[in-house]
Amino acid sequence: MTRTVYVNGEYLPETEATVSIFDRGFLMADGVYEVTSVLGGKLIDFEGHVVRLARSLKELDMQPACSRGELLEIHRELVKLNNIDEGLVYLQVTRGSDGDRDFVFPDPKTTKPTIVLFTQNKPNLADNPAAKKGAKIISIEDIRWGRRDIKTVQLLYPSMGKMMAKKAGCDDAWLIEDGHVTEGTSNNAYFVKDGTIVTRPLSTDILHGITRKAVLRMAAEAQLKIEERLFTIDEAKEADEAFTTSASAFVMPVVEIDGVALGDGTPGPIAKRLREIYLDESRKAAI
Ligand code: PMP
Repeated sequence: MTRTVYVNGEYLPETEATVSIFDRGFLMADGVYEVTSVLGGKLIDFEGHVVRLARSLKELDMQPACSRGELLEIHRELVKLNNIDEGLVYLQVTRGSDGDRDFVFPDPKTTKPTIVLFTQNKPNLADNPAAKKGAKIISIEDIRWGRRDIKTVQLLYPSMGKMMAKKAGCDDAWLIEDGHVTEGTSNNAYFVKDGTIVTRPLSTDILHGITRKAVLRMAAEAQLKIEERLFTIDEAKEADEAFTTSASAFVMPVVEIDGVALGDGTPGPIAKRLREIYLDESRKAAI
């Protein structure tokens, strides 16, 4: 089926949507993005994504492409036009194109940002078989740039990390910097030991996950103990269980790290419980 996508103010069939070859997103990865999940035709944590988008744009001296209200309308319109019950809305804003290639930022008064949105239909997003099995991960060195709190479209290394995992017969990779786990290639990382959930604190070293924030709030409400601190991959390997969070995979149990099975090698009770709570609460609050 041909999707209807949104490009710079227009709803178009995906085959007719174009951006310039001089777009700075294409030439320089000079752009940011958000991925919002859709459950029951409604947007999960839209507010969190809009706030983070505004922050990413501000950190890069980019102009807001649309107001919050316009963004909500575009998201909803695309969900409707593409009949999405479960799936994702991808949003990308770049610094646009001034018709040439130059390292210097173009004048925002004359060069408008490029804004693109499209949907991805994922009928099994909530009832994901991968979440029942749990993910096997490998650890690799984190060689990304130092502003991982900005959600830029520079995703080459995360892509390479996923390929390294795939080659090793695994599902994903956790990244290690100075002996400590930063995060997953496209998710935040946690382990659980003796009932305490451990995850790295927020800084410029990791993306400030929308799902991380919601899940930590729900874990605290469920009286679970949380420690935000640096941790090593060896600590995670000795954990009772582990998991990741992201807007597109929610809470994903991790069952193996670098070939070491965690617990009995099946999804742990805390990860399973948090996944259930997250899905339940998010559906209720979806707009
Ligand atoms: N870290 C990285 C590097 C990511 O790419 C993502 C997903 N975009 C996350 C964490 C999780 O963030 P969120 O919960 O907002 O999807």
